[in-house]
Amino acid sequence: MTGHSSWVPGAAGSGHDVDHLPYGVFAHHDDDPRVGVRIGDFVLDLAPVGASDMVPETDTFAAPTLEPLMAAGRSAWSSVRDWLTALLYDPSERTAVEPHLLPLSEVRLLLPFPVADYVDFYCSLEHATNVGLMFRPDSEPLLPNWRYLPVGYHGRAGTVVSSGTPIRRPCGQRKAPSDAAPTYGPSRRLDFEAELGFVVGTPSRLGVAVPVADFSDHVFGVTLLNDWSARDIQAWEYVPLGPFLGKSFATSISPWVTPLAALSTAWAPLPGQSPEPLPYLQVAEPAGLDIDVAVRCNGSVVSRPPYRSMYWSPAQMLAHLTVNGASLRTGDLFASGTISGAELGQRGSLLELSWGGRDPIRLDDGSTRTFLEDGDEVTLSATAPGARGGRLRLGQVTGRILPADDP
Ligand code: MN
Repeated sequence: MTGHSSWVPGAAGSGHDVDHLPYGVFAHHDDDPRVGVRIGDFVLDLAPVGASDMVPETDTFAAPTLEPLMAAGRSAWSSVRDWLTALLYDPSERTAVEPHLLPLSEVRLLLPFPVADYVDFYCSLEHATNVGLMFRPDSEPLLPNWRYLPVGYHGRAGTVVSSGTPIRRPCGQRKAPSDAAPTYGPSRRLDFEAELGFVVGTPSRLGVAVPVADFSDHVFGVTLLNDWSARDIQAWEYVPLGPFLGKSFATSISPWVTPLAALSTAWAPLPGQSPEPLPYLQVAEPAGLDIDVAVRCNGSVVSRPPYRSMYWSPAQMLAHLTVNGASLRTGDLFASGTISGAELGQRGSLLELSWGGRDPIRLDDGSTRTFLEDGDEVTLSATAPGARGGRLRLGQVTGRILPADDP
């Protein structure tokens, strides 16, 4: 269905029409930060509009974080979304609502919620295969567990930062395979990983697993996520307990959280799972998401990873994360792992694009990269089918590399 657009100027066809309505936290001048929703190139200041409409969730709009709204649960998310859709679609609301639209250029967007626990998965068959080939060239690229469970690790919640936060090149122990011993210093193999992040709203009880069918009761929405990675630190430290300092220095997320309800027409079949997953991981199709990601380095598109190629689905990640009885908290964030498709131009990291540094890639300015240089700016963007035709534009996430502190 097309032709049903918001009265807000510029919203139609922008990827930010009434079928999207992502949430964020903004600061305007010296006012306290609070919750807003994006429509076109404006932020709707929800607290005053909610107060005048006597919306029950109005208290959650005045918070400096999405956390109270996320904790309010699925029926509240649904009623707030219905209210907002009506406000921004019905031209008779314009007089009352328009004074609370702030141009995006006049606000600062903040980290949308404090991250509780952060888990990063490894759900792309192509990414896991590529990394296996490079890190363990003498053995099978996929370890025996990979097709039985969504492999993941616990990351560092306290270093999840908002889009635009500069990323300081990390220092650490680096050891090339040919080196006899490691040295300490700035990472020489700094990389991005293009991922989606799934944001938990509704908590769960300790000791009670969350089945795949309950995914939409718990997950509030989706962000873009850049899992910055220092490959030289990672390759030396990761055996046998997994990623640590090569990952924990920073993870960037988009300021806008796309509500799960906005992705109702974005569900797509998974590529196919063999062997058949164990019963607790079996999903009804379609369980994947048709989201197209683009990665830019200094403005040049370097990759277009397709999320629909991911092997494990978001509901399977959540079911696996809780199958041992681990409970969810509001603000938990779990990420997909690097999104890499089958083609060279669909790989979601420089490690894969340059094949471990062997094949430099060329940017539009003629310069080449194997890994990130100081001053480089990486931006992830993505689109998904919208419920009214056209495509939604997910919130971008960007970050620029600062030189390492002197070691
Ligand atoms: Mn990752």
